[in-house]
Amino acid sequence: MSIRLVEPMLVLEAKLKGKTEQYNLIDEAIRAALFVRNKALRYWMDNRGTGKYDLSALCAVLAKEFDFAKKLNSQARQSSAERAWSAFNRFFDNYKQTGWKLSKDRKYLTLTDGFKIGRLKLVGSRDLNFYQIEQIKRVRLVKRADGYYAQFCIDVDRRKEMSPTQTTIGLDVGLNHFYTDSNGEVVENPRFLRKSERQLKKLQRKVSKRKKGSANRRKAIKRLARKHLQVSRQRKDFAVKTARCVVRSNDLIAYEDLQVRNMVKNHKLAKSISDASWSMFRDWVEYFGKVFGKVTVAVPPQYTSQNCSTCGTTVKKSLSEGTHQCSHCGTVLDRDHNAALNILAIGLNRVGHTQISTPVESSTSAS
Ligand SMILES: [Zn+2]
Repeated sequence: MSIRLVEPMLVLEAKLKGKTEQYNLIDEAIRAALFVRNKALRYWMDNRGTGKYDLSALCAVLAKEFDFAKKLNSQARQSSAERAWSAFNRFFDNYKQTGWKLSKDRKYLTLTDGFKIGRLKLVGSRDLNFYQIEQIKRVRLVKRADGYYAQFCIDVDRRKEMSPTQTTIGLDVGLNHFYTDSNGEVVENPRFLRKSERQLKKLQRKVSKRKKGSANRRKAIKRLARKHLQVSRQRKDFAVKTARCVVRSNDLIAYEDLQVRNMVKNHKLAKSISDASWSMFRDWVEYFGKVFGKVTVAVPPQYTSQNCSTCGTTVKKSLSEGTHQCSHCGTVLDRDHNAALNILAIGLNRVGHTQISTPVESSTSAS
């Protein structure tokens, strides 16, 4: 199951399995929703000062005027109009909470609106078991290069209480490994990802070799699109799983604020992939930090690799030097492990400053 984050909602996606007639009906439903949205857009552009409620009223009119718009569940209709509206204003607060049913085991989705799509099998919907039906705020059907999907927007506002682990961790991101932590553990870049990236490049070359407008080129483009989808899913799944794991097993997670470093100008593919994966991973660490009530700290990356994590002495080293050797205190560590320890120390130091104010506040309120 694929997971995506749209604050403050979590979007879980499952593939839909059904009959050809059902797929045709889904196409029809998607087209109708698009039609309503475009009509609303048009209306908004033609009539200055149109508000959200005018668009809701428009939906009702469209339902009377066009048979297929009527088939759309009324909330879906409203949702389409408001999607148009939200393109201009940032309102986006209506959910489709009716018109569908989820089976108890979360394996079947039944669509009950006017299109009569009926019951569809969900592939990879296991993660839905973690959530209550009431938490599902909206279901959306989407068509992708490799089939049809249902998106479940889940309200995860409720914090999950977890007992403290009494552990803190610093993460050092590297090109050679995904990260090295302050305990000296190394998480490798997933091999399957590298392999997919190579296949992607190959498919890209194939497309450019084919004659424009030819059937072979269309086929090659379709294959490329599918691979693209697969790679981005793999990358995201890895980021989500790794982030969830590291956040669950620690109370404080410190990492480099890479936006500050402004990403070394390096046009190599490997580097750009690692940058993209890392920033995605960081987003998820911060997200799970909120969900599980953990502290996440981004620290400025200066000097983290040069200073000695034991005594603080600056030990200059070039990029190729893989070992930190301090002549001042005798510490010998893997370069990245030393950096991760520095990152953790800076992270703890920063959090320490914010905690000082807490006892003062509480004593004031007690008196
Ligand atoms: Zn030292």
